[in-house]
Amino acid sequence: MSSVKLSYRAAQAVKPGKLELTEKPIVDPPPGHVRIRVEACGICHTDAATVEGLFPIEWPRVPGHEAVGVIDKIGPAVEGWAVGQRVGVGYLGGSCGHCEYCRRGDLVSCKNQEYVGVQHDGGYAEVLIARQSGLVSIPDGISSVAAAPLLCAGLTTFSALRNGPARAGDLVAVLGIGGLGHLGVQYARHMGFEVVAIGRGPDKDGMARKLGAHHYVDSSASDPADALQALGGAALVLATASGGKAVAQTVRGLRPRGRVIVLGASPDPIEIASTDLLFASRSIEGALTGDPTTSEITLKFSQLSGVAAIVETTPLAGAVDAYARMMAGKARFRIVLTMGKDAS
Ligand SMILES: [Zn+2]
Ligand SMILES: [Zn+2]
Repeated sequence: MSSVKLSYRAAQAVKPGKLELTEKPIVDPPPGHVRIRVEACGICHTDAATVEGLFPIEWPRVPGHEAVGVIDKIGPAVEGWAVGQRVGVGYLGGSCGHCEYCRRGDLVSCKNQEYVGVQHDGGYAEVLIARQSGLVSIPDGISSVAAAPLLCAGLTTFSALRNGPARAGDLVAVLGIGGLGHLGVQYARHMGFEVVAIGRGPDKDGMARKLGAHHYVDSSASDPADALQALGGAALVLATASGGKAVAQTVRGLRPRGRVIVLGASPDPIEIASTDLLFASRSIEGALTGDPTTSEITLKFSQLSGVAAIVETTPLAGAVDAYARMMAGKARFRIVLTMGKDAS
């Protein structure tokens, strides 16, 4: 037997709702791509769209779009990246550089962009092939485990806050205190906003304040819109919880020209009275994560401010259980898979 390993371990979805461990052959990266030895990959709720078969995908498929590792092979026509460099990938697999949106600088909207762990295999694996244009450079001084959740949960909340209409000192609400929300509260606090965390139940109050919230609203005990209006009205609501009704409930809590930015994915409709929008010129919009350079700024801001995801780690071998725990809402707050060398 050769000592060179020709295969790698992964967890893949084989049919809707069924994730299982497998071994896959190691292949060379095609032109414009690199091969990454994955060290850590966060489990994001959006992985459910792959595993549960909500997207039309080809089976089997390895989910995971919060992956960090080290480049071990460079494909043809790749420039600016080196073997041995630590990199990460988020949800957006890399822009094409030539479509109408790329040429306008709107890389998120690239028409020829795949989603990692959806149209091609993602990071629940020891090895990942990634498009050069989707790579995020990981700075020194942050572990791969700490960096992984920042590539989707971190980027998504940070980018929405950074590009949203709120200015320092404004009232900003974060709906949902989970994987995205617990980072959103921290970023909002460190960007200088007055921060309201909205969760279900009284038990999240202490944690929300520990993360940096000035106020906590229990949506099971009071109407979040009334609570926000009592504080003067929110300039921005980050909707990280995906239930359409919970999102709709916050709209009347916006001050004039305030905005709800929807970050949590759900097929659940958001029903809003048009009067609630037009009489105060309120708006509601979606935001799809962010581009790779904003991801690098997210990492830098996190290092500067001390913002960090609260994670529990699980070896890749425990991916099936870890995914089930996330789906059951039991992750506190982010589960990160680790690909230990000893485990292969
Ligand atoms: Zn995600
Ligand atoms: Zn493009």
